[in-house]
Amino acid sequence: MAYQYDLFVIGAGSGGVRASRVAASKGYKVAVAEGSALGGTCVNIGCVPKKLFVYASEYGHGFDEAAGFGWKHEGLQFNWSVLRDNKTKEIERLNGIYGNLLNNAGVELISGFASFVDEHTVMVDGKTYTAERILIAVGAKPFIPEFQGSDLVVSSNEMFYLDELPKKALVVGGGYIAVEFAGILNGLGVETALAYRGDQLLRGFDEDVRAFASEEYAKSGIDVRLNTDVERIELLDTANPNGARTVHFKDGHSETFGLILYATGRVPNVASLALEKAGVETGKNGAVIIDKNFTTSARSVFALGDVTDNIQLTPVAIKEAMALIDYWFDGKQVDFDYDNIPTAVFSQPAIGTVGLSEQEAEKRGLDFRVYQTDFRPMKHTLSGGTARSLMKLLVNNADDKVIGAHMVGDYSGEIIQGLGIALKAGATKADFDATVGVHPTSAEEFVTFT
Ligand code: NDP
Repeated sequence: MAYQYDLFVIGAGSGGVRASRVAASKGYKVAVAEGSALGGTCVNIGCVPKKLFVYASEYGHGFDEAAGFGWKHEGLQFNWSVLRDNKTKEIERLNGIYGNLLNNAGVELISGFASFVDEHTVMVDGKTYTAERILIAVGAKPFIPEFQGSDLVVSSNEMFYLDELPKKALVVGGGYIAVEFAGILNGLGVETALAYRGDQLLRGFDEDVRAFASEEYAKSGIDVRLNTDVERIELLDTANPNGARTVHFKDGHSETFGLILYATGRVPNVASLALEKAGVETGKNGAVIIDKNFTTSARSVFALGDVTDNIQLTPVAIKEAMALIDYWFDGKQVDFDYDNIPTAVFSQPAIGTVGLSEQEAEKRGLDFRVYQTDFRPMKHTLSGGTARSLMKLLVNNADDKVIGAHMVGDYSGEIIQGLGIALKAGATKADFDATVGVHPTSAEEFVTFT
């Protein structure tokens, strides 16, 4: 049977754009449907604008630190609307670039949200399109638990377009987004509390990293509250829906905040897809179930990225798209290696991590040794800052291979990228030792562990 397209992609985010433009450049007839701005979460309401906000908030500490280096400043002011609007202009520029990339590759862009009619047909704005293959790349959306007053909180989506910054904010959650936004708000001068329901932030990270980062966040000015749960939220003044909110915590105390951000996870964005019409099965939280070749229970339908609720990271979705292209074009079975994926948390200080945590290495029954140091970065000898950095290396005793590298401190994200290559290449501790350090840097600590 003849279809209108070889490939129809639903969602022009990181994974969808990569898959559609590479497929089109290889000669496929491709369409991509997108109901929002091009680039998806990462470009519009995720990684990119978040990083711009992180840069902005780092200046909040930087001006104070500069005094010890001889700088004098007076009358400092921060204007939120300048940052927000400059950020939006930059994102619009990127949206344009994404549009050009798709156009130049010959991808047909269909504006609107798609839903399935059957396993070879989708509908956008009442019009149907048929394709030999359909790729679901719709990503995820914020999850906010339901409770009394949950309509009075915002998600990370809204943080990028706030009319104004509050004087005092509460961030709920203990994952990537919570600690990143707590850092942003704190650096921009907002009195910031970070409430997490468990014993320690950043579940899944190395325990030393978790404890160290949490302490550093507190030192930087964030009011970190562990084992803290919200019971309900109400308006302080019911006549003012945009005004302050009173949070009643489960421990019985109440407090008022100008803004409450819930960063309590993200769930696959499948609600409007009508997956059942194509026979696409879903699992926990609606995640699209795929096999190792990204194929769903409907053989003509594929999925990748956050909608599969595997590892929710942009570069993973992009690499998955490339692997899927190889599968389609070259018939190569996908052998995607999800081990040793480096990742950074752009909190302040930042965290960089690749490979196993000490706890994971123990769980796997490995015989390994640990090298660890924490120190005052050189910059703070003059800045007067009290921040410290942590570095940790795990080495497998059987073959001397480095199996985990972790860092808390400035430039962690930049440093961990290089270490990601080392781990991928199977570097041993002896290789690290044989590497000459770059002096004076924090990074050199990784090659001078004894
Ligand atoms: P995470 O899954 O990282 O964290 C969710 C947090 O919310 C956890 O601390 C969790 O607690 C808590 N939580 C969940 N449900 C509730 C609830 N009902 N009440 C109170 N707390 C709750 O999600 P994020 O939203 O922070 O980020 C989503 C994903 O996006 C990340 O996992 C990451 O993959 C990606 N991301 C990556 C970034 C980067 O690369 N720098 C930046 C931002 C996001 P508990 O631990 O107890 O379950």
